[in-house]
Order: sequence, then C-alpha cells, then structure tokens
Amino acid sequence: MIRVGVFGAGGRMGATVCEAVRMADGCELVAAVDPFRSGAPVADSEIVIASDASAFLDAGADVAIDFTVLDAARENIRWCAAHDVHSVVGTTGFSADDLDEYAELFAHAPANAVIAANYAIGAVLMMRFAELAAPWFDTAEIIELHHDQKIDAPSGTAMTTARRMAEASKDWAEDPTTTVIAEGARGGLVADAIRVHSVRMRGMIASQEVILGTSGQSLSIRHDTFDRSSFMPGVLLAVRRVADRPGLTVGIDSLLDA
Ligand code: NAD
Repeated sequence: MIRVGVFGAGGRMGATVCEAVRMADGCELVAAVDPFRSGAPVADSEIVIASDASAFLDAGADVAIDFTVLDAARENIRWCAAHDVHSVVGTTGFSADDLDEYAELFAHAPANAVIAANYAIGAVLMMRFAELAAPWFDTAEIIELHHDQKIDAPSGTAMTTARRMAEASKDWAEDPTTTVIAEGARGGLVADAIRVHSVRMRGMIASQEVILGTSGQSLSIRHDTFDRSSFMPGVLLAVRRVADRPGLTVGIDSLLDA
C-alpha cells in the first residue's frame, strides 16, 4: 500500500487528487496539508487538513503530491528531498533553473521526484503523436483553446508540442503570407517552424488541435479536457512509479512506456 500525502489539499486540484487517491487501488490517503485550509476535513474521510508538512512525517507518507502555487511548491519539493518523501508535482511554472536544482537535489537524495506540467495522458499522447507525424507532413499549425481566465498564451502544452514537432522535422514549407490585414492573424511562430493560435473562450476548459497537411491529405490530432478528473490517471501513474524512478523525472511521457 502506498501511503500518500497531498499538499494543497484545500485547492481545486488538491481536493480532486485527495478523492482520486482515496479511491485508488494500492494507495491510501494518510495526510493532507494546506496552510490556508487547515482544520477543514477532507471530504468523505476522517482526515483533517494540517497546516504544515510535519503531518506527512507523523502519518508515515511515502509520497507527497503537490498542486499548490509556485513558491510553495518550490519549498515543498525541497522539504520532500530533505525528508526522504517521494514527490509528485503538478504545480506549473518552474523555470529551467528550478528543474536543474531539483535534478541535482534528487540525484543525491534517497527520495525521487516526478514533475509534470500536464498529467492528462491524452494530452501527453497527443504531443507524442504530433512529434511522430511531423516528418511526414509539409505544414503544421496548432490551435489551442482555453477558458477565458487563462492569462498566458500560448499554453505550455502548445509550446511544448510545437518545440517537439520542430525538433522532429526541420523540413517545413514556407508561409506564403505577404500581407497581414489583422495583426496576429497567422498566430505566433514557435521554434521558427510551427504557428500557434490561442483561442480564449468562456465555457471552454482546455483543448488543443494539431493540424498537419501535405499533398492531398490532412491529419488532425485533437485532445479535449472536460474536467479535472482527466489528470487523475496520470497523477496516480506517477504515484505508483515514482519510487522506481531514481532522481528527477520531468513529464510523464517516459512513465507510459515503463
Ligand atoms: P488552487 O488555487 O485551487 O489551489 C492551490 C492550493 O494550494 C490552495 O488551496 C492554497 O491554499 C494551497 N497552498 C498554498 N500554499 C501552500 C503551501 N505552502 N502548502 C500547501 N498548500 C498550499 O489551484 P489549482 O487550480 O488547484 O491549481 C494548482 C496548481 O496545479 C497550479 O499551478 C495549476 O497550474 C496546476 N495544474 C497542473 C495540472 C497538471 O496536469 N500538471 C493540471 C491542473 C492544474
């Protein structure tokens, strides 16, 4: 039985993760931490949200899941490395320097870590399929569609997809556009290769379509997220695999093959 603690248990993702862990075979939710929600119960359980990570030590947690905010997550990751608790992190926004620091930290710690900006297995496969298709097509563009509260564009997933496709093929057709009538009509150019169009739409959650074209044919690869449950199989996969993955693993792509 994997004993699991959840950082950010009072948040939107944290609450969903608590529920998913409680329902998962081979996992047990043993503690929950959220300094802004301490004292509140975790729904349908006897666990009360604690204010700090010492609750994970008291409960003997093997793995701590983190869906919090960037500054808190940075501290929580260091805490896990220092206290031999495996770390599964979904909080987004880490810089390359952050990831370098954690790679170094977990290279020397008995505990391991998985950090992924997208735990939706369908989205991870979409990126892999797009990369696989890239060398066989002459043109490709990405349309990403998100809710109207999202403040950054393009999405991290669209950027990663475009970079991976650009890496997989250098042979893209020239854009024939010479006159742009409305600024931005051709989207943003990523990695000098792939144009990305960001739609911000009330009622939408998160979707992405990769369209590839070559003579006489087109391939569309689309992923839609309907609710937060989409992330849970990926989070649980990381929880189950983290102990066997020495050091830091970035993204869950490599876990799908294990
Ligand atoms: P949220 O604001 O609903 O929840 C964040 C929670 O973290 C809050 O309850 C807050 O009180 C808590 N928190 C703050 N400081 C803390 C600390 N030091 N220790 C413990 N808890 C602390 O946000 P959300 O929608 O749940 O998203 C959380 C993060 O997850 C964001 O970074 C978001 O981008 C990311 N996210 C990632 C994925 C993925 O697949 N990787 C999917 C969805 C969301």
